[in-house]
Amino acid sequence: MLKDKTALVTGASRGIGAQVAKSLAANGAYVYVNYNGSKERADEVVDEIVKSGGQAEAICCNVADFDACKEMIEKIIADRGRLDILINNAGITRDDLLMKMSEEAFDAVINTNLKGCFNTIRHASRYFLKQRSGKIVNLSSVSGVMGNAGQANYSAAKAGVIGLTKSVARELSSRGINCNAIAPGFIETEMTAAMTDKAKEATIATIPLGRTGSTEDIAKAVLFLASDMSDYITGQVISVDGGMSI
Ligand code: NAP
Repeated sequence: MLKDKTALVTGASRGIGAQVAKSLAANGAYVYVNYNGSKERADEVVDEIVKSGGQAEAICCNVADFDACKEMIEKIIADRGRLDILINNAGITRDDLLMKMSEEAFDAVINTNLKGCFNTIRHASRYFLKQRSGKIVNLSSVSGVMGNAGQANYSAAKAGVIGLTKSVARELSSRGINCNAIAPGFIETEMTAAMTDKAKEATIATIPLGRTGSTEDIAKAVLFLASDMSDYITGQVISVDGGMSI
């Protein structure tokens, strides 16, 4: 499905990003597995892809750093000659109630989760425009759609990702570039592992499908948006949340 395509997945050293990287590689793409601090975990993801017959390499970059993102994209273009798929998945949480939230916690989440998407899109778009093709998929969140107490920084960043997605789609779609977002609900990863059983149960009670999501649930939707199956879809936000946001 993605033969001869080159893909970059940010934050692919674990969780959703790792699963997305494996799925894109299993479907034929050459995948750059981006990480910031977790080199060993990124190398493990690459090893697993290569052992399964796929092609991948790890690439270090802090997505919050504008110039570092430029270097990362330029390296990919220098090595592979092209970039076809950009998955903006890297994200962090620094949860706190608004009245206790530090300026640093607000800025850190905005810089990684929102500005990180701008940084990679800004630099990759140059090449997408030259190619007259490109698929951008940004990871938003149910929190960006509905808001969430204790996550003012995260919800603001993820709502910002939706605005960014729609604006990029309006600017670039006429040049054959699709830009869409996925808004996951409660997905079992290290990001959500810190929740108490009680909080988890309370959240599951709000999910019409009655279960938490898996990284595979998200990877399937990303694959759809990264492939030609979704060529006539742009500027959309697909909720993959078991119905949580209905
Ligand atoms: P996770 O398990 O915590 O993994 C986060 C990934 O992002 C790691 O690979 C981490 O790599 C990377 N990362 C963090 N800061 C980075 C930076 N500055 N530059 C580059 N990479 C960075 O998270 P997840 O649960 O898989 O979530 C993935 C995405 O889905 C996030 O955008 C998250 O907000 C979104 N999402 C998740 C859920 C959920 O329930 N899990 C729900 C809605 C939305 P390093 O360790 O190398 O930094």
